[in-house]
Amino acid sequence: MKCTFCGTDEVVYVRPYDKIALCKEHFNEQFEKRVKRTINRYKMFQRKDKIAVGVSGGKDSIALLNTLVKIEKDFPESEIVAITIDEGIEGYREEGLYYAKKHTKRLNVKHYIFSFKEDFGYSLDEIIKKLGERGGKNRAYGACSYCGILRRKILNAAAKTVGANVVATGHNLEDEAETVLLNIIRGDVNRLGRQSPYPKKVHKDLIPRVKPFRLTPQAEIVMYMVINGLEYQEVACPYAVEAYRGNVRNFIFETQNSQPMLSFNIVKAQDKLIPYLTKNKEETKGKIKSCKICGDPSASEICKACSLKEQLSNL
Ligand SMILES: [Zn+2]
Ligand SMILES: [Zn+2]
Repeated sequence: MKCTFCGTDEVVYVRPYDKIALCKEHFNEQFEKRVKRTINRYKMFQRKDKIAVGVSGGKDSIALLNTLVKIEKDFPESEIVAITIDEGIEGYREEGLYYAKKHTKRLNVKHYIFSFKEDFGYSLDEIIKKLGERGGKNRAYGACSYCGILRRKILNAAAKTVGANVVATGHNLEDEAETVLLNIIRGDVNRLGRQSPYPKKVHKDLIPRVKPFRLTPQAEIVMYMVINGLEYQEVACPYAVEAYRGNVRNFIFETQNSQPMLSFNIVKAQDKLIPYLTKNKEETKGKIKSCKICGDPSASEICKACSLKEQLSNL
């Protein structure tokens, strides 16, 4: 087989959805081109942005940082910084932190580390220990739900602290497809509209979040890491066994074997629905409530993080 672009025999990857064969050079070129196109399509960045990249040390976040640093060279007025959130998961977070430090240093990107313990008062391990078994009287949800609430809140606060005006995360095509399907399965059509790929300032204290890998398949991110010799944390979080997303995730990857356009189609469907879903919505008018305790944007009077803190202080 020969590279579709240059005809060399040294093909490293054949894209299952369009059968395009790629040598290393053209794989990297196409990979970066797609990220640029995604950024432009959803108008993710402005020329003078200070972009905070959430870097966990996993493949998605390292690949994203690597790619954005390359793209950013054409935009000297912008700046990229990296933020790692240390959730406090013993025996797991240390390795991710090691890779995050290693790559930010290599790329000469300023790296900030924030932690649950320092910013919330409890590490994730402590929270789960206090709440007890899932399904017990104090804990309704899997660890990932609590972690997600706090990670979003702390990442937003961290971005504000470092003066960033946009946050980029490494969510990839299948992550996005999965989120769309989960919202449909739960009947949460409003959320489908809220999770718009366009950065929006919906609340004065909410730094807009963007996902430049929204149209990049996971398999290509893994390939990008491998062919460029980039190391990352491969072991899964010990709490992942509690994740609710499992079934939908398996469905996507299994179905994709015979229908390689599946995730692209799901994400495109959301794109087409968004104009209808966001019409006249409070979110688009910037009228999201503020939490009465911390002031952060919140769907209810008191945000989920503050309610969790209150619950923990009573245990
Ligand atoms: Zn080639
Ligand atoms: Zn709050």
